[in-house]
Amino acid sequence: AACETINMSAVRVKVAVRTRPMNRRENDLKSSCVVQVKGNQIFLMPPLSYKEDHVKVKKEFTFDHCFWSVDEKHAGQEEVFGALGSELIDNVFKGFNACIFAYGQTGSGKSFSMMGTDEQPGLIPMISSELFKRENNDSRQLRVEVSFMEIYNEKVRDLLQSKEKQKLLKVRESKQFGPYVEGLSHHTVTSYESINCLVLKANKHRTTAATNMNDESSRSHAIFSITVSQIHINHSAGSTRELTGKISLVDLAGSERVSKTGAEGEHLKESKNINKSLTALGRVIFTLSNMSEGKTSYVNYRDSVLTWLLKNNLGGNSKTVMLATISPAADNYHETLSTLTYADSAK
Ligand code: ADP
Repeated sequence: AACETINMSAVRVKVAVRTRPMNRRENDLKSSCVVQVKGNQIFLMPPLSYKEDHVKVKKEFTFDHCFWSVDEKHAGQEEVFGALGSELIDNVFKGFNACIFAYGQTGSGKSFSMMGTDEQPGLIPMISSELFKRENNDSRQLRVEVSFMEIYNEKVRDLLQSKEKQKLLKVRESKQFGPYVEGLSHHTVTSYESINCLVLKANKHRTTAATNMNDESSRSHAIFSITVSQIHINHSAGSTRELTGKISLVDLAGSERVSKTGAEGEHLKESKNINKSLTALGRVIFTLSNMSEGKTSYVNYRDSVLTWLLKNNLGGNSKTVMLATISPAADNYHETLSTLTYADSAK
């Protein structure tokens, strides 16, 4: 069925916004800062150069978290992990699914938040590292499996396969397990180091594509998934029980609009596909977060490959986190407004 009927009480979408520091270009241009954060409120001031009265209004938004990094009140990676990541790990150990999306224009801090740098690791390495701090014990065995894929132009590519073996993969849906990618490789990992090794390999595959094909990586969605299975052993009864949860960490394609990039031909097709999937995602999240308790709603997961694949991680008992990333600079005002509006509608 194209529509899924869901009926649940545990849906909770958490929305956070992270402002990155001014970059060199913005500093060189002496671009003014148009963003202000007070607690969990964020204000967007129209740039002074805007004459039209209708944009001269200061916009105000409230989110679950607003992370700021323009001046000394710098929210580091630890703070973001503490606010968004650690409860998802608790959740996954209870056997539930979880999903974090990074949404924003190219250059606003999505990869920095998800992947980070060697010195400042982001959510993916921090979550991976935390998982293995929860020790195995006598009555519990842990099995952790990861996969890493990219959705580009509505097609799926396995980032953990070597270039030669990479082909476009198909999404299928099984009655028992829901949507899955046929032929996607899954890797059992036993330590943080082994996850890290796979992540580095995948990033290399992504950047190779980026340099060859004019920064394709900002036009694709990257989905890193960690499946955690716990096998509980009841020694006295001689029985075992398995509990499985999955976290998907998604670095979305840049949200900049088609008009700004002046897209034509193949690029226009890409942009349309990006718009289609980001709109579909927004719609799914909007439906989930506006569902009243115990009521039934229809969710169109099949509208894009992204939402279809993440069906089991969106809704049900899953926790969903949207992290919107923005630039503080005046010359990104329109993109920032559009990101904040998107994030606002996800609440
Ligand atoms: P995106 O993935 O959205 O295209 P990036 O994550 O690559 O953007 O960020 C662009 C640049 O800004 C990178 O050099 C990154 O290190 C830096 N950056 C982004 N967010 C932050 C932040 N919160 N603190 C410090 N540097 C940041």
